[in-house]
Amino acid sequence: MLRIAIQGKGRLNEETLNLLQEAGVKLSSAKRTLLIPAKTFPAELLFLRDDDIPQAVADGVADVGIVGENEFMEKQKNAEIIKKLGFGKCRLSLAIPKEEDYINLNWFNGKKIASSYPVILSDFLKKNAIKADIHTISGSVEIAPGIGLADAIFDIVSSGSTLMSNHLKEVETVMYSEAVLIGNKSLSKEKEKILNELIFRIDAVQTAEDKKYILLNAPNNVLPDIFNILPGMRSPTVVPLAQEGWSSVHSVIDEKRFWEIIGKLKDLGAEGILVIPIEKMIL
Ligand code: ATP
Ligand code: MG
Repeated sequence: MLRIAIQGKGRLNEETLNLLQEAGVKLSSAKRTLLIPAKTFPAELLFLRDDDIPQAVADGVADVGIVGENEFMEKQKNAEIIKKLGFGKCRLSLAIPKEEDYINLNWFNGKKIASSYPVILSDFLKKNAIKADIHTISGSVEIAPGIGLADAIFDIVSSGSTLMSNHLKEVETVMYSEAVLIGNKSLSKEKEKILNELIFRIDAVQTAEDKKYILLNAPNNVLPDIFNILPGMRSPTVVPLAQEGWSSVHSVIDEKRFWEIIGKLKDLGAEGILVIPIEKMIL
């Protein structure tokens, strides 16, 4: 049985549960108790505040955990990052009042900076030989300069709209973060095995996420050109159509190149193009 610590409520909760569900780790009960066994996988989910996840994993209270990389770095606990998960993306930045002139980091010398991430911040300041005062607060960091509590802030930024409405501007990005799977450093053989299966499944979900399955009809004489555009996993599947001289081509394409590929296929004379999401993909 593998115990997975995840955020009980908050920004990472829903996407974490979705990812686990797509990996076949489904909850046996909708009731949110602290610990819920999975129905279809030898695991149980432990719902915690994100602050407590690194410690729980380091101590072996949980075997693995899903938490923001920022939170993991801040807590400095003895666990390891197994895998980046691609959601919960944000950055930790320094921001100062909008009207201030800013040239470089020296602006922060002798200033007071409010933050919920004092460890990451002091590490950054030390590396850059800046001497500033860190004022640790656990929430509403962005209002600190406005009420005279600090000269600047160091906080999570995603769109920047919170900064703007508090008359602040972002001047330095210190780290980029996303949700990560972290693990205890000494798992038993049995747990290691379950974890490997979980990682295999998460990989399959992630690989599928940015791929699409594509089907199209095309005249046989343009097939070589179409194969050049559609690499497929190995090579495209080609099935003859009832109509003489035409074939149906099936392949897998990158979501990122989607519009470019579709445009080229149309130009070559492809018809009846179908694009279908892929749920899982095992390479
Ligand atoms: P908890 O009650 O579990 O302690 P919290 O209030 O500390 O929750 P949340 O606001 O739910 O934390 O954020 C959890 C994590 O989500 C952050 O640590 C960060 O990694 C990530 N995140 C992604 N985008 C954002 C954002 N725009 N604002 C805040 N956090 C974000
Ligand atoms: Mg928290």
